[in-house]
Amino acid sequence: MPKAPFPLQDQLRGFSRALFSTWIYHRRFNVLFDAGEGVSTSLLNRVFGIRKVFLSHGHADHIAGLINLLNIRNLGAGDQTTELEIWHPQGNPLIEIVKGYLGQTQSELSFPLRWRPLEPGQTVALEDRRGKTHLRAFRTQHSQKQLSLGFNILEGRSRLRPEFAGLPQHEINQAIWSQGKDHVVERFEQIIFTYGGDSRPINPEAIADSLFLCHECTYLKREDDERNFHQHSILEEVLETATAARVKTLLLFHLSLRYSQEEVRAVLNQALRRLPRELQVVYLYGDRFYTLEDTVGRRGFRDDETTGPGEPGPGKTEEESC
Ligand SMILES: [Zn+2]
Repeated sequence: MPKAPFPLQDQLRGFSRALFSTWIYHRRFNVLFDAGEGVSTSLLNRVFGIRKVFLSHGHADHIAGLINLLNIRNLGAGDQTTELEIWHPQGNPLIEIVKGYLGQTQSELSFPLRWRPLEPGQTVALEDRRGKTHLRAFRTQHSQKQLSLGFNILEGRSRLRPEFAGLPQHEINQAIWSQGKDHVVERFEQIIFTYGGDSRPINPEAIADSLFLCHECTYLKREDDERNFHQHSILEEVLETATAARVKTLLLFHLSLRYSQEEVRAVLNQALRRLPRELQVVYLYGDRFYTLEDTVGRRGFRDDETTGPGEPGPGKTEEESC
């Protein structure tokens, strides 16, 4: 199989355009981050694979797809009985309104729907066939009127303690044999994925050493934030944040419609020349992921790949009554 052009290319699907719609689906964890308009139309029967939705905040372009998502999970040709959890910032007034609306209009769902309020610092266990992982929410800086959150997925890993890091293998083996494994090896939590939602630049400490950071980048240039809302991030700041946090791969999303894909690529290529360290940058433009060399992009994982649990597969037809 050819090598994926960026890590997680075979795990993600998404769409993002500032003001219009944003969502990213992570297939390994069956998790949907935000639910902008069109998410079900794009994922089709894969919506039955979603176990948890994490909403970053209550703006329409991040939650407008919820209504259709619940409707299709209720009526479509897939597993209609599996529980769906919607995790959302605690006490967010806009999300409470949508929750109330859905409670009235979708009162008899075929599956259990759980609304779960989430506060910064709170942890949620994730299902993962490869081992124990969990998600931790952190506070972001977006609108003063509502709590907004970002999310880290953390994986428990082990590594050599610093004093053993440079030693040859036989000395490490000797130390394990004589002093025990715990003396030589330590457990730590690795952030393997971060979704930041809409925000001013995220505090690098909250996302330290993330292997894959999805950070919004509404503006390529500072002067383009002409309304001066100070609610979003500018490319220069995002690159600084990712560098300070020692991120491996940075996925930019929530790009303003004013930029053509060619313009984004040109500006990114120029900006990265000034960066001192190795940082892979990719971006989500509409429904396509692009690397910096790429001119056509790709839609994340392919449709003919194995489906997730509960998904009826790409070949089956959907119900036409809804
Ligand atoms: Zn927003």
